[in-house]
Amino acid sequence: MQPKYLYINTIGCQMNVYDSEKIAVVLQPLGYELTRNVDTADLIIVNTCSIRAKAEQKAFSFLGRMAKLKRKRPKVIIGMGGCVAQQEGRKIMERMPFVDLVFGTHVIGRLPEMVTRIEQKKCHLVDVKMYPGIDEFDFTDTAGAYGGVCRFVTIMQGCDNYCTYCVVPYVRGRETSRKPEFILSEIRELIDGGVREVTLLGQNVNSYGQKEGLCSFPGLLEKVNALEGLERMRFTTSHPKDLSEDLMLAFRDLDKLCRHIHLPVQSGANTVLKRMNRKYTREVYLGKIEKLRQVCPDIAITSDFIAGFPGETETEFSETLDLIKTVEYDSLFAFVYSDRPNAPAVHFGDKISETEKKARLQVLLDLQEQLTLKKNRSMVGSIQAVLVEGLSRKQPGHSESDIQSIIQWSGRTEGNKIVNFDWADDRETAAPEIEAGHLVDVRIKRALSHSLWGELVRTKTATADLKGGKYYAA
Ligand code: SAM
Ligand code: SF4
Repeated sequence: MQPKYLYINTIGCQMNVYDSEKIAVVLQPLGYELTRNVDTADLIIVNTCSIRAKAEQKAFSFLGRMAKLKRKRPKVIIGMGGCVAQQEGRKIMERMPFVDLVFGTHVIGRLPEMVTRIEQKKCHLVDVKMYPGIDEFDFTDTAGAYGGVCRFVTIMQGCDNYCTYCVVPYVRGRETSRKPEFILSEIRELIDGGVREVTLLGQNVNSYGQKEGLCSFPGLLEKVNALEGLERMRFTTSHPKDLSEDLMLAFRDLDKLCRHIHLPVQSGANTVLKRMNRKYTREVYLGKIEKLRQVCPDIAITSDFIAGFPGETETEFSETLDLIKTVEYDSLFAFVYSDRPNAPAVHFGDKISETEKKARLQVLLDLQEQLTLKKNRSMVGSIQAVLVEGLSRKQPGHSESDIQSIIQWSGRTEGNKIVNFDWADDRETAAPEIEAGHLVDVRIKRALSHSLWGELVRTKTATADLKGGKYYAA
């Protein structure tokens, strides 16, 4: 079979990264090999995100560029998948007639059939049906197709929470969980292929398996923890209203669970949380953070915030800043509110101007930058377990010419902080052999606002050392 080339442009969250891997794998039997060169691709797919208006615009501007390519090479097949495709369906072809294929978030398993029909009949196809339940065929084994040390594994799809600003329940469907045995066998394959860390993905992992009567989420974590060969596991996202004590205890009891939780709060004002339909109060949220820190004192905590939700007053915004100061997050993601189709907040009055939303976002990010730097500085002198992901880019303090001669590596701490490190130049012995996937100890020497820099202390952290007393001052 003559090789054909597939180019995928992935926009959006980890779930889309995971879905793009599946897309590449289901199309392999048709002879498609992945390429990074869009100009020579036979099939171009943009896997889209519609969570914010900006992500959607990005998808359409990419397709705009593809229109020119299609004029030059009319045989190239152009497809759009993901959340914007699900949301807009057939309308995409009306707006952009050069698009050959539009497929939604529930039909990845049908892609080979659709692409074959387009190749043979030169037709245009749209499939944005949503199916109840999970088609395990969509979860084709991607272990061999992609390497890497850290990989995502989707454990559930959709969401039933209906936050008033959010498009997810409309484009990803109702919440449905995969069976533990399928999840475990997928992770087993990944480990056998060299993966050392998995991040379990779901919009609200706390409610994993409840509808279907499967095991609880902490129960699933226990099963993953028992898999031999896995060094670390993480998960995202945990909805604060459902964060249980059992899950908090998992951070204490499961040796492979990284001590980091992403707990999106969105706002620090009860009035805004109510309008967002988040179903918790500031007090409940802060109470859970306190308990988490009692159970696991050095847990890293990150969050998501929306600046300028409709009707957000200066006082409500200042309550958000106050909450950030109270919690002292390790880092956070913050976004300006944007109207999304079908989400109820589209119809809310008192919209905040773009200028004001951006100004609030900047205040919030500036505040967090100081807090992150403070946290990072407090780690200077400590020894951190780092899972090596590969060679690092240019290091601060080293000139371009030095870079050639110094071996520098990059990895992450349990708290998900990036650490670039090398072997101290003044040592008499040569740098030890380090490979991606090794868990090493690094002494932190310098803190920057987005990363840490350090020196290798020893090459292998015993798994038994992972819990308790790990972060000692050097
Ligand atoms: N399920 C997760 C939760 O409940 O926290 C988050 C999922 S969403 C993919 C990621 C983040 O996008 C949200 O936490 C929120 O901060 C942000 N987001 C969602 N809709 C938004 C909107 N309409 N405007 C701005 N930010 C939005
Ligand atoms: Fe969206 Fe809320 Fe569901 Fe998260 S929990 S995906 S923010 S509806």
